Amino acid sequence: MDLYEYQGKELFRRAGIPVSEGRLATTPAEARAAAEELGGQVVVKAQVLTGGRGKAGGIKLAEGPDEAEARAEEILGLDISGHVVRKLWIEKASEIAREYYLSVTFDRGAKEALLIFTTQGGVDIEEVAASSPEALVRLHVHPFEGFQPFHARRLIYGAGVADPDEQKQIAAIVGRLYEAFVGFDAMLCEINPLIVTPGGEVKALDSKFTVDDNALFKHPDVAEMRDPEAYSPEERLAREKGVTYVKLDGEVGILGNGAGLVMSTLDVIALVGGRPANFCDLGGGGDAQGVVDALEVITGDPQVKSILFNIFGGITRCDVVAEGILQALEQMTIAHPIVVRLDGTNAEEGRRLLTDTAPPNLYVEPTMLEAAKKAVELAK
Ligand code: GDP
Ligand code: MN
Repeated sequence: MDLYEYQGKELFRRAGIPVSEGRLATTPAEARAAAEELGGQVVVKAQVLTGGRGKAGGIKLAEGPDEAEARAEEILGLDISGHVVRKLWIEKASEIAREYYLSVTFDRGAKEALLIFTTQGGVDIEEVAASSPEALVRLHVHPFEGFQPFHARRLIYGAGVADPDEQKQIAAIVGRLYEAFVGFDAMLCEINPLIVTPGGEVKALDSKFTVDDNALFKHPDVAEMRDPEAYSPEERLAREKGVTYVKLDGEVGILGNGAGLVMSTLDVIALVGGRPANFCDLGGGGDAQGVVDALEVITGDPQVKSILFNIFGGITRCDVVAEGILQALEQMTIAHPIVVRLDGTNAEEGRRLLTDTAPPNLYVEPTMLEAAKKAVELAK
């Protein structure tokens, strides 16, 4: 789960990482009130779950309440890479002397946490990695060893930070960021920029914080930060019903049993010239309720033009899945064409059940390739 900047900063604050004082606002009037309370120059920041807000015009300085209100008016409703701004973070403006970058991620290859630090922060870190990779200092932390002061020293000296007072502050922030990363079961904790003010104070001006969904049960206060409005109606429905659902950008809705089969189905759809709109994984089961839930989620996506069921009966029997599909179609009306490919245990029985009793918008195909072709054709 990705957190908004203001939520990540709240976790930073709890972890002892210096951040600026700010207020949340959802209207221009609230932005004005926030600027009044904070006093002086403020920065009006779009809260969206995507980066590059500055470049997209989602971050603006304001001299006082009047300007804060005007900037809020401009930024609210703005579309930043498909994310519409509904919330603003109004923060006391900082003076910036230098912009650094600091992050902790999980390096799956090394099976260790990875610290990255560079004094070339503020900008796109991918750009720095491409143009001057030597400027990035990368350091793994062994999970048994945990964070040690030498890690911070290597990052700081490696990146060439010379000022002793700055070194001390950064070292403390690295340690606390690592603690936050482990403590909140994060996948990513990123500060870009980590700024140095003209007075020599180091603090986090931005936050990117991703918490492992599977660990949210340990952090009810973080789980509560989830913003249902950041998700589409069908994504919300999927979460409610416990359906594994991923939104994509094409026209064919995909239902399969098992992650591997679903991934291959996506490939086959692409192979025959189509594009998946989304996919649901039915897992091991194929009972009527599971099918109803998945179909509700899939058809909730307005981009879907046809639906492809790809079922391999291993432990699950195809006739049982076929009955599930038929029961589901009795319980709900689906206008989209549905293509079903059944193979594996009791496949013939399953296919016969479907061809005997299925509604006219249901097509049964014997192979994955033919089913994909049919689904793509029907989506046109
Ligand atoms: P991002 O574009 O989504 O990464 O948003 P950031 O929060 O990182 O802000 C982008 C840029 O806006 C920063 O790199 C700063 O240069 C600038 N910025 C953000 N907050 C302030 C502030 O308080 N004062 C000043 N002077 N600039 C700021
Ligand atoms: Mn940033």
